[in-house]
Amino acid sequence: MFRKIPVKTTIVEMDGDEMTRIMWQMVKDKLLFPYLDMNIDYYDLHVKHRDDTDDQVTVDAARAIMKYKVGIKCATITPNEDRVQEYRLKKAWKSPNGTIRAMLDGTVFRKPILVKNIKPAVLSWKKPITIGRHAYGDVYSNTEFFISQPGKLELVFTPADGNKETRVPVFNFPGRGIAQVNHNLEQSILSFARACFTYALSEKIDLWFSTKDTISKVYDAGFRDIFEKEFAQNWKDKFKAAGIEYFFTLIDDAVARIIKSEGGMLWALKNYDGDVLSDMIASANGSLAMMTSVLVSPNGWFEYEAAHGTVQKHYYKHLKGEETSSNSMALIFAWSGGLRKRGELDGTPEVIAFADKLEKAALNTIEEGVMTGDLLALADKNDANKKVTTTGFIEAIAANLQKIFHGQ
Ligand code: NAP
Ligand code: MG
Repeated sequence: MFRKIPVKTTIVEMDGDEMTRIMWQMVKDKLLFPYLDMNIDYYDLHVKHRDDTDDQVTVDAARAIMKYKVGIKCATITPNEDRVQEYRLKKAWKSPNGTIRAMLDGTVFRKPILVKNIKPAVLSWKKPITIGRHAYGDVYSNTEFFISQPGKLELVFTPADGNKETRVPVFNFPGRGIAQVNHNLEQSILSFARACFTYALSEKIDLWFSTKDTISKVYDAGFRDIFEKEFAQNWKDKFKAAGIEYFFTLIDDAVARIIKSEGGMLWALKNYDGDVLSDMIASANGSLAMMTSVLVSPNGWFEYEAAHGTVQKHYYKHLKGEETSSNSMALIFAWSGGLRKRGELDGTPEVIAFADKLEKAALNTIEEGVMTGDLLALADKNDANKKVTTTGFIEAIAANLQKIFHGQ
């Protein structure tokens, strides 16, 4: 008789909204529960339940991740005015991802899932490029304003201790113009650096970091120096032992090198650079449905999820009783990523092996030509390619997983 694989430590599960909630349940029923004996600490982040609990459930979920170190999350609605009306919410609650990220002090790493029959737009890329984006400061929390007449612009810093203020001349405006002031925090940059070193070591991949340090000699060079110091003090030996490298270079040089590389590195980027370049990497790899995401805290807490949202349009089709073809790959990889990390922390190779098998079953399915609509357009043309429904896709993966388990 088949014995289910015991998962030693409790798994923190965060359920979500719309189409991803439906796929989430199917993934658990068809791919996880038949094989795993798991104790689950369940948080329902359905938008209505967040509303009912005044968003306390999101805070509780973040605390549970701190307690158990690994959380696995479904996609969730970030309410706007339309959603407030649609679900009759008390208010437009904050993004759960934002709340959890702030509580864990985490950095988000996004990594594409590669399959043999979908070629990246950049042919030299053989391995996935992971992007780590700093999620604090710069243009996202800037102060900007119009200059409507000639005059002198200065920055004034007033020390909290009552000492004399510092004035820095910015520019003498001859006429109308615009201005912008950015800031960042040493502690935030340091947390970002630690999360990047933690992730690279955890995945055993090289870490690249790039800023415009030649032009921005205090701000961007400040990022560079904080990374360099942290690396030298706390990571150099660990990286050497793992056979991986830390590499800093000017962002222009990094962009040029990435395009010609084989991939396989973590590329750490400042907030704006990461925002823009993560979209480029995602689209060069095909589909948002093939992008995974993990939030890594410098305290060693991990939260796995899909990079995409709740796939609202497909959900409305589903509600109308129409057939859908939504892709569950990133949700499945959120589970496999979380389970693998759980296995590493618990020292349970059987759980790690299950994560590998689950990913293999999912990859095999697409490589055999069985895929959802979003991938059909991207895949190498082959008469064997077959578009399947949301359910059909998960069932095909379940059949492959069964084959792997029964050694056929
Ligand atoms: P989305 O859910 O990512 O979907 C945008 C479009 O991308 C879909 O309409 C679909 O294109 C395609 N797509 C995304 N995931 C797919 C999948 N698994 N399979 C097949 N196609 C997929 O973004 P959205 O529609 O802008 O946002 C919907 C809700 O998600 C919003 O309420 C937003 O707040 C939330 N959101 C949550 C997260 C998160 O929890 N991490 C992230 C982003 C957005 P086609 O329609 O062309 O097929
Ligand atoms: Mg962007």
